[in-house]
This record gives sequence, structure tokens and C-alpha cells, in this order.
Amino acid sequence: MSKEKVVIITGAGRGIGAATAKLFANNNYAVCINYKSDEKSASELAKLITCEGGRCITVQADVSCENDVERLFSTVDKTFGAVTVLVNNAGILKKQSKLVDMTAERINSMLSNNVTSYFLCCREAVKRMSTERGGLGGVIVNVSSGAARSGSPNEYIDYAASKGAIDTLTKGLSLEVAAEGIRVNCVRPGLIYTDMHADGGEPERIERLKSIIPLQRGGQPEEVAEAIYWLASDKSSFSTGNYLDLAGGL
Ligand code: NAP
Repeated sequence: MSKEKVVIITGAGRGIGAATAKLFANNNYAVCINYKSDEKSASELAKLITCEGGRCITVQADVSCENDVERLFSTVDKTFGAVTVLVNNAGILKKQSKLVDMTAERINSMLSNNVTSYFLCCREAVKRMSTERGGLGGVIVNVSSGAARSGSPNEYIDYAASKGAIDTLTKGLSLEVAAEGIRVNCVRPGLIYTDMHADGGEPERIERLKSIIPLQRGGQPEEVAEAIYWLASDKSSFSTGNYLDLAGGL
């Protein structure tokens, strides 16, 4: 049975998610561009994809909220059919801070936006993809971070720990659903040129740190998108439970 190629990319209005949405659309996927609050960026991206002959929809949903995630997936069911690829990409970063100054509110917000969201979206994807539940299989790609390896001391241990959780989610879920036709992998980008560094309070952070990157530069969102696309494609058909580092050698 042939499958319609349908991808849901969370947090796809800007940054790495937007570059990924363009790449999947160029490869004949029906693309769901999820965003939380920046409607303008999401609709401009959708216009661009549509003008170039691609198929996409935008869906506002806060993926840390269970009801929103359920609505996101059921909207895609109705519009394109069941999802075949999930890219868990939405994420937040808060101002640089030592752990000693972090509030419970900050830590809980970090974990619900960066971890609960991925769990909920994985759950909805598995329900639709699993061959044990009548699905046709599928692929999940989680966007983790090099921070899961470094721990980000003095800057954002909360963010780094949230990404460590994504590495463990990737490993555990990949083993849980391997016999159900679903592959689960993750990418771990290093310093990538997006708006996220401004959210951390240092828009020029990559300029400060690029001399310690072996390749001597930050990465572009498109370079991460290519790796996500490869992990989602049949070209990586024997890969599951793996982490692909994209950090210029860091
Ligand atoms: P970005 O440009 O700041 O974009 C973040 C995206 O996530 C935005 O589209 C935002 O939506 C969305 N988002 C945040 N919370 C959400 C929620 N609860 N529900 C739905 N959408 C939500 O960041 P980016 O750099 O592209 O980051 C993408 C992913 O890469 C993140 O997981 C990040 O941790 C990871 N990463 C980034 C870097 C880097 O150097 N940039 C390095 C390693 C890993 P709105 O547009 O509506 O605000």
C-alpha cells in the first residue's frame, strides 16, 4: 500500500523548523507548519511554499498542552491523512543564568516546552504510525542539542537537561516501537544561526564562541534540515535510536 508523505514539524515558522519545512515541501511532502505565537512568520513561510507549488497548512498549537497537540494531529488527519514523519523541533531557551538563581517556574516551563511537548507529539504519532495499531509505520526525528553533551554550565543547565531528556526519549522510544515499523532518531545541533540566542540574552553568542568550533563557524538552519531530512528518508532505513551531531566538530 502506498503512503501519502505527510510531515508535522513543530515550531516550524522560524529557524531550523522553517528550513526543514521548505526542504520537505520541495521533496513532495504535505507539510504541517506548527507554531505557537508568531503567526506572521508561519503564514509567510506557507505563502512561499505554496507559491513554489508545495502543499502545506499552518496550525497554531502550543505543543506543551495536551489538548493543543491532539487538535494539531487531528487537523492533519482531516487535511492530509495520517502523519508519516514527525519532526519534534519546537523549543525554548531562557536568559543565561546559573542554577543557583533558577526558579521552579522557569525550570517547569523549560521542561514542559522542551520535554512534555516531545512526549505528547511522539504519543500521537505512534498511535497513527504503529503497525500494531493498523498504521503503516513512520519516522520520528527529535531535535536535541549539543547542550545535552556539554551541560551548558553558567548559561542554561535547565535547557541542557531538557535536551538530555530528549536523547533518552529517543533511545527508549526507538526500542519500544522498532518492531512496530517506526524509526526514532535525533539530531544534536551545535551553534546554529537562529533567533534562539537572542532569547538566551546574547544574540551574538555564536560570534563570541565560533573560534572554539573546529570548523571555525556557526551552522546554518539548512545544514540541520538536510540531516533531519536524511534521517526521515529511506536512505537511513537501518538507523534507529541514533544521535547525529551537527556541531562543526565541537
Ligand atoms: P527559534 O528560531 O527560536 O524557533 C523556535 C520555534 O519553536 C519557534 O517557531 C516557536 O514558535 C516554536 N515554539 C517554542 N515553543 C513552542 C510551543 N510550546 N509550541 C509550539 N511551538 C513552539 O529556534 P531554533 O534555533 O530554530 O530551534 C529549533 C530547535 O533546535 C529547538 O528545539 C532548539 O532547542 C534546537 N537547537 C537550536 C540550536 C541553535 O543554536 N539555534 C542548537 C541546538 C538545538 P513561534 O514562532 O510561534 O514563537
